Amino acid sequence: MLPTASHVRQQFLDFFASKGHHIVPSAPIVVKDDPTLLFINSGMAPFKDYFLGNKPAPFKRIADTQKCLRVSGKHNDLEEVGYDTYHHTMFEMLGNWSFGDYFKKDAIAWAWELLTEVYKLDQDRLYVTYFEGDAGDGLGPDTETQELWRTYTTDERILPGNKKDNFWEMGDTGPCGPCTEIHIDLRDEAERAQKPGAELVNADHPQVVEIWNNVFMEFERRADKSLLKLPQQNVDTGMGFERLMMAVSGVKSNYDTDVFQPLIQFIAKEVGVEYHGTSPATVTDQPATENEKTDIAIRVIADHIRTIAFTIADGQLPSNVKAGYVIRRILRRAVRYAFSSLNQKQPFLYKIVPVLADQMRGIFPELKQQQQFVQRVVEEEEISFLKTLENGLRRIDSLEEGFRQNGNRIDGPTAFELSDTFGFPLDLTALIAREKGLSVDEQGFQQALAAQKSRSRNAQEAEQSDWTIVLESEEQPAFVGYDQAEAPARILRYRR
Ligand code: ATP
Ligand code: MG
Ligand code: MG
Ligand code: MG
Repeated sequence: MLPTASHVRQQFLDFFASKGHHIVPSAPIVVKDDPTLLFINSGMAPFKDYFLGNKPAPFKRIADTQKCLRVSGKHNDLEEVGYDTYHHTMFEMLGNWSFGDYFKKDAIAWAWELLTEVYKLDQDRLYVTYFEGDAGDGLGPDTETQELWRTYTTDERILPGNKKDNFWEMGDTGPCGPCTEIHIDLRDEAERAQKPGAELVNADHPQVVEIWNNVFMEFERRADKSLLKLPQQNVDTGMGFERLMMAVSGVKSNYDTDVFQPLIQFIAKEVGVEYHGTSPATVTDQPATENEKTDIAIRVIADHIRTIAFTIADGQLPSNVKAGYVIRRILRRAVRYAFSSLNQKQPFLYKIVPVLADQMRGIFPELKQQQQFVQRVVEEEEISFLKTLENGLRRIDSLEEGFRQNGNRIDGPTAFELSDTFGFPLDLTALIAREKGLSVDEQGFQQALAAQKSRSRNAQEAEQSDWTIVLESEEQPAFVGYDQAEAPARILRYRR
């Protein structure tokens, strides 16, 4: 029997409650009042004001599980989803915080106690990191953290890390400080004997993954780039819940845990294909077998439905601008996978919502409460996109020969036509291109887009805000065609 998600989550919350933490509910995933952020992308984001000193923290110690989305801006893991085993668009970040209370010593002691005594993870499989020094400021290594870890583990498992992985900054200015990450090596014994896990930490190995990051905010970055030691020291930690589930379940993929299995089994049954299990260790542009192809599609859908459902339940409807456009893109990406790889020609994603809502009802009841509404929105979106999807795909096929003769590239005007006429977000076109071994002329797309924008500037009605209050009585959004106003500037990078 796999450990259940609700039990493992509760163990985390109970553990930190026993250490004097106040347990708070997750903030909504949709951000309505921060021009720098569309969605919550880490556990600390809802507490930003406490760290910036704009508001006093209501408690000195807080712990929670926070719904997070990493699909835009600084953190964007969308491209990994379905292909790798441990990055999701939406995930839960378990976290514990100290606002001017405990610091490195307790945070490290508790992290170790929780992982090894409560979750009983094998100590020999755990690796920890500390900041190696020099954040461009002559800062020395974080020897305090290194020393503290020596109480619990051996030197070959305590690794120095660079600024990118081990020094956290809120932005160009503001709170910052070194962090210590905890990684787990889930490889088989035979593989472990061949190569020490230490060599694979932070090296994109699918079974040597980061599970927890503990940030020690002890400085403030000033506008002149200098660092000021803060009078009050804070701790901010984040542990990926789905990765923790993989570790405690002794499996090799987040998708093989109780978090994803109910969704995967439902999808597989519904579409009448078998799910074959653990994801391939290496990512390939083109799935080698039919099984791999359907597995990827099932994983993408199981991942994306969580993002879509929770974001809508938290108040963001799919639309053509900003946050709404991000959701529409993800939804269309899921529809495309269902259509092309699983042969779903009718709306289908909306049927998964009740499974997810039941699964999450204990911890995130907001989805169950709005289940019907969410289903309606998703189904409506599916219907409208399915109307043009098939024609768009046919259009690509009919032009494929030309693309091949033209340097294996989908030209800008065609990419624009696909988005303007068929509602294909640029990254969807890029995804289809990738599968065919083609690239997309992104610059040409942007030029065509700019030309259209200038043609229709005056005629365009811009949506005023990202935020839509969700009420059962509210009118459903009607499909109003596709507006390029906010097409993503970013295109999928191609896999190695
Ligand atoms: P990675 O290096 O694996 O991309 P990260 O360093 O970007 O992770 P942090 O910003 O430190 O991640 O977030 C804290 C924790 O959240 C990570 O240790 C990891 O367990 C989890 N996490 C981060 N991104 C994702 C994701 N896309 N899906 C699932 N869990 C994630
Ligand atoms: Mg990352
Ligand atoms: Mg990392
Ligand atoms: Mg990290």
